[in-house]
Amino acid sequence: MIVTIDGPAGSGKSTVARKLAAHLQIAYLDTGAMYRAVAYAVLQRGIDLSNTEALLEAARTARLEVDCGPTHTRVRIEGRDVSEAIRTLAVSAATSHVARHEEIRSLLVEHQRRLGDQLGSFISEGRDQGTVVFPRADSKFVLQASLAKRAERRRQEMIADGEEAAIEAVMQNLSDRDEVDSKQWEPLLQSGQAVVIDTTHASIHEVLEQMLRHLGRENLDGGTVSPDRMRPNG
Ligand code: C5P
Repeated sequence: MIVTIDGPAGSGKSTVARKLAAHLQIAYLDTGAMYRAVAYAVLQRGIDLSNTEALLEAARTARLEVDCGPTHTRVRIEGRDVSEAIRTLAVSAATSHVARHEEIRSLLVEHQRRLGDQLGSFISEGRDQGTVVFPRADSKFVLQASLAKRAERRRQEMIADGEEAAIEAVMQNLSDRDEVDSKQWEPLLQSGQAVVIDTTHASIHEVLEQMLRHLGRENLDGGTVSPDRMRPNG
């Protein structure tokens, strides 16, 4: 079974993808972590983000290893586990630059497909999973939420990490990223081939139930789907 979940930052897709994978006991592939890991390598090497050649060279040569399980995706760069280190604001900002380069996308798309072949059944989460990477997925979802709600989730996440930011600044950052990122999943909306779920007012429990219904899994043990509210990290 291949399930793709795409959508903007703060839509709740990471939380839901992880919980759905745990519920179905299949692997969870966080493709954002792969882009972040490449950005991390770029920053570690002190590369100027406007130096396209150096960016491509870093993406080609950085040894990226990905380990997926039902509740996690862990990433290693040059043998070092950077799964937590890639969550900083500095890496988030660099990731957007890195992800704009088609050559880098191609490298990671190929890597994601190789992982998919190895995994067999999995939930893949990102921006282009249902369109570019796994167009033949069995089920495709796009999660959306209002900009205000996504900004509030993101801000709560930053506060939990000990960072303060004005809601206006967070909103601006998200809408800037939306402009680039949304092109990746837009075709899914136009062709109607994905199930679109608005998480603005929904709990994780409600979103998961909706997804399980679409997957024909509504009779599975509902007790494993915890009724907590959407975590803010998208
Ligand atoms: O999902 P996450 O917020 O960790 O992704 C970080 C960034 O990586 C996104 O803002 C986007 O620029 C990029 N990305 C992408 N394609 C994916 C996953 C992430 O371009 N499949």
